[in-house]
Amino acid sequence: MTFSVHGLAVARGIAIGRAVLVASSRVDVAHYFVEPSQVEGEIERVRQGRNAVVEELQRLQTDMPADAPHELTALLDVHLMLLQDEALTGGVKHWITERLYNAEWALTTQLEVIARQFDEMEDEYLRERKADLEQVVERILRHMKGVASPVAPPASSPRRKTQQDLLLDDTVDVPLVLVAHDLSPADMLQFKQSVFAGFVTDVGGKTSHTAIVARSMDIPAVVGARAASQLVRQDDWVIIDGDAGVVIVDPSPIILAEYGFRQRQVELERERLARLRHTPAVTLDGHKIELLANIEQPGDAAAAVRAGAVGVGLFRSEFLFMGKTGNLPGEDEQYRAYCEAIDGMQGLPVTIRTIDVGADKPLDNKAHKDNYLNPALGLRAIRWSLADPAMFRTQLRAVLRAAAHGKVNLLFPMLAHTHEIQQTLAQVDLARAELDARGEPYGPVQLGAMIEVPAAALMVRTFLKYFDFLSIGTNDLIQYTLAIDRADEAVAHLYDPLHPAVLRLVGDVIAEGERQGKSVCVCGETAGDVTMTRLLLGLGLRSFSMHPAQILAIKQEVLRADTRKLAPWAQQVIGGEEPAALLVS
Ligand code: PEP
Ligand code: MG
Repeated sequence: MTFSVHGLAVARGIAIGRAVLVASSRVDVAHYFVEPSQVEGEIERVRQGRNAVVEELQRLQTDMPADAPHELTALLDVHLMLLQDEALTGGVKHWITERLYNAEWALTTQLEVIARQFDEMEDEYLRERKADLEQVVERILRHMKGVASPVAPPASSPRRKTQQDLLLDDTVDVPLVLVAHDLSPADMLQFKQSVFAGFVTDVGGKTSHTAIVARSMDIPAVVGARAASQLVRQDDWVIIDGDAGVVIVDPSPIILAEYGFRQRQVELERERLARLRHTPAVTLDGHKIELLANIEQPGDAAAAVRAGAVGVGLFRSEFLFMGKTGNLPGEDEQYRAYCEAIDGMQGLPVTIRTIDVGADKPLDNKAHKDNYLNPALGLRAIRWSLADPAMFRTQLRAVLRAAAHGKVNLLFPMLAHTHEIQQTLAQVDLARAELDARGEPYGPVQLGAMIEVPAAALMVRTFLKYFDFLSIGTNDLIQYTLAIDRADEAVAHLYDPLHPAVLRLVGDVIAEGERQGKSVCVCGETAGDVTMTRLLLGLGLRSFSMHPAQILAIKQEVLRADTRKLAPWAQQVIGGEEPAALLVS
């Protein structure tokens, strides 16, 4: 039966594929396809893992002291029974043989299938056996870690098939879409080179960092779809409409055909836009507009260059630090990563933002949840860096050294106080002095501040006194101006880039930058939103930084714009009570 689930549209396009449900706790399992010739080997790996766990549990049973509680022996019996159960072993075999999933993926997929059956049981005792099953699978996975897969996971892009292919071939090699309750930004990053053609999560806001990474992958995604992970079943056919924020489950052939058609239209539009790649971004009245890329990893530089970006406007360096479980990258490792990004940009400038962890970007996936009541207002971004100056200077030294290899700008997130600015700049001086003392070469950098909190926007003149350039982080500026958690889908309807208060702050910062002859960029999601381009141009913005995938669509808007007409109109829009209504006029 066809039904739909509504969420928030975060990454454009249409994906059609079979659902892969992934429990939040198991997203770190590798997901890749094996060759048919490797099927037996994968089944054998699971068999060996399972046999090892059986032996382990049997040993525990034998060594059990005579006075051990009866519950303990009963529990071991249950675990052994689950291990031998055909539902588990047969199911895993099915996913490997029929779908060519690698062993770990097959095992966790079958875990989800059986767990769902347990959830639906009337009997409470039986329902609770789900936890036992999870433990058993966890043990098998642990054993399998020691037995490497005979095949390396291919770093392939998602397999995209046409509508015709889908109808003809319904077994292996079909596109897959990932459905999960929650994915952290680091989880999402892990799927960057994966087999998935689309994403759906129950939670998350439009500008949550998970959504941002999904967008940077340029594949359709819907977040905040509430109960999607409970309503969708493993292997269901699913359509993700990333433009409308809708997930259609078990679509009828007519709906499938309609979306297949729309999918092809999106492809054609992309091909058309690709012709603008080498066209300079100049407005009708001759203003040259800088279109820059936001990247999360050094490897993203290639996509930025391909999209025709004239530099990187925001390298979110925190993604180098995330998911490292305690082992933060040292100076040399960071230096190499920054150099890789610089080399990747082939002589174009790279703006590296210092680490911005905290809020919805935890350093460690496992530890973040509910640590603080208001993590977005807590020890985040520059506050975190200034709280650990040695760590901060390690990053600063790495960036300064990398600046000897190409044009680098250094950007600081979430500054709000003058004393924070002064401390930050003092740390830069100290980092330079440390490099001097070591005799280590380093390069010149332009220093910039992000305008992300209303306090910073309101004291823009002070900021301009200290910095060479500014970059407006509208994602956070909106969050903090309107007191809306950007990652919370429950208040997503109140998250409004067109709120008059937000627009006035943005307009004032751009105007002050222009007055003082200093560059102001917008690097929040607003910069990549085609419905905002004319307004931002009218407000005087000349530098936009966004996901590479958005650059050509924004360029198209720039090419059609005449700032002489847009400037008075933009003042009218931001002066009104309801800018959204005026925007369409
Ligand atoms: C912003 O806040 O707009 C921004 C670009 O930074 P981030 O999204 O990483 O918080
Ligand atoms: Mg921010």
